[in-house]
Amino acid sequence: MGVQHKYTRVKNVLTIILPTVWASFAGYLIWYVTSAKRNVTITLEDANTLWKIHKNSSNCTGHHWQPISRRGGKIFGFRCECGYKYTQKRPLVSSMPKPCK
Ligand SMILES: [Zn+2]
Repeated sequence: MGVQHKYTRVKNVLTIILPTVWASFAGYLIWYVTSAKRNVTITLEDANTLWKIHKNSSNCTGHHWQPISRRGGKIFGFRCECGYKYTQKRPLVSSMPKPCK
């Protein structure tokens, strides 16, 4: 009788915990997917190249640029001396044109 009582208690606890575990797991998965989409990071070299492109494409007189970074030191854009601000919205690879077949 005592063992059975213990078992039903464990079962009750599991029915409470399992949906919570699944909910938090699903929440983590959604957070991971959305954060991966939002925070597109580039390297310092990429930012430098993009700044050079900006300098060439627009009549920019700036000589300096600052990387735009968030917590963790990851760069996702740059700010030019002229006031131009660039933030990477999509990964560099997927923004490249697809080869024609
Ligand atoms: Zn500029």
